[in-house]
Amino acid sequence: MLRPAHPTWTLRAALAIVLVVVLFGEIAFASGGTPAKKSFRAGACALDITPTKLPVLVNGGMLEGKADKVTDPLYVRCLVLDDGSTQIALAVVDSCVVPRPLIDEAKARAEKATGIPAGHMLVSATHCHSAPSVFGALGTGVDEEYARFLPGKIADGIALAWKNLAPARIGWAVGKDPKNVFCRRFLMKPGTAATNPFGGSKNDQAQMNPGYQNPNAVRRTGPVDDDVSVISVQTPEGRPVAVLGNYSTHYAGAPPLSADYFGVFCRRIGERIGAGPGFVGIMSNGTSGDANCCDFVNPPRKFDRFTVGEDVAQAAFAAYKTIEYHDWVPLVVEEKSLVLGVRMPTAEEVAAARAHLAGLKEGILRSVADVYARETVLLSELPSTRDVKLQAIRIGSLGIAAIPNEVFGSTGLAIKAKSPLKPTINIELANGYYGYLPPPDQFPLGGYTTWRARSSCLEVEAEPKIVEALLELLNNVAKRRKDADRGDPR
Ligand SMILES: [Zn+2]
Repeated sequence: MLRPAHPTWTLRAALAIVLVVVLFGEIAFASGGTPAKKSFRAGACALDITPTKLPVLVNGGMLEGKADKVTDPLYVRCLVLDDGSTQIALAVVDSCVVPRPLIDEAKARAEKATGIPAGHMLVSATHCHSAPSVFGALGTGVDEEYARFLPGKIADGIALAWKNLAPARIGWAVGKDPKNVFCRRFLMKPGTAATNPFGGSKNDQAQMNPGYQNPNAVRRTGPVDDDVSVISVQTPEGRPVAVLGNYSTHYAGAPPLSADYFGVFCRRIGERIGAGPGFVGIMSNGTSGDANCCDFVNPPRKFDRFTVGEDVAQAAFAAYKTIEYHDWVPLVVEEKSLVLGVRMPTAEEVAAARAHLAGLKEGILRSVADVYARETVLLSELPSTRDVKLQAIRIGSLGIAAIPNEVFGSTGLAIKAKSPLKPTINIELANGYYGYLPPPDQFPLGGYTTWRARSSCLEVEAEPKIVEALLELLNNVAKRRKDADRGDPR
């Protein structure tokens, strides 16, 4: 015989149900109302973004660069992750730098196509110096036709990765490659560092790339980050879907157009792990503002994009073999804007620069002084502040700090050390481009990375302000961890 339920028990049962729903709020409920195990999904895509028309302008050098051939194809490499309630997209573009308006346009288009909020997307540049220019810097202008072509392609890449979403598991590890990352900036003996009459510096004591075993080079000005970080995504059965790598060397060098070592890494890591068709290798740039492959303290060694790509893939593979996979992890994103001042040239500096430019034969830039005279005038015509977007992403216990600058090794190491998320990966040239980010103590030393240009213009105190904001964001996404993790049914 059925007894009617005691009213107290009914109330307790109802409360228990409410509690369960609150605590396990993120459990996906199947249509029948029974709780289903949380699902983690991932999708990846590498979309060719090689220009269809040549020649194109190529930036990254002091004077204007051009390319009329394709050495190897360029890609936007995309990874979309979905924890059941939050979707994020990561895209890395084979480009020197990509400015914020172009990235914002790409994100808006991708949001329209996928429904992923633009604020959940991280789009960065590899920093190959062998791709079409979409940002006017130093002697090179913008390749306008390619700049119109690129945002739609980035959006298409993200949308294709999103369409490929399928059940997945994820893991990460950190390896080392000290062979291909060295501080390229040196303190020089007094009076021996290169100077620049229009760089906004005086009595330069630091010099970039002083040459091998230069007797005037006293010491390197900072440390480097030699981590090779990898995030790996597989199907639940263990078939590789994508590997996102991160390493902090500037680039290796390649005849344009080329994806440089970043492209070589993407191919070689796939081969190393025995990935099949459809696998997407991705290589992002860490904090390489003052680092490159040249060990200037020792005699020159042979390296090129193939050896660097191979070395970094080998270090990544060693780390890859130690990865423990998670069937589900929470995804959390937060971003914020920071308005930073610009080191604007004075009226006298602008007048001197104009006078210098007026004396140029046919207005053609031929020297460092010519280039920086023009940068001084161009900078004086731009706003005196920049709205810098910073972003932190959490994938389980892993953090990503996205920084729209060329960041020094010391800054990257400090973020990693102070971040509550272990490991934390820094991705520079992300979500826009606001030039070099020397720590304040580097400005009195002068040298190329501090010389005032569109590619180095933020206020002297920008670096600590950016680091503080990023740590706040990393702490916020780490705190939200507990709320999100509570939903993990495991
Ligand atoms: Zn560079």
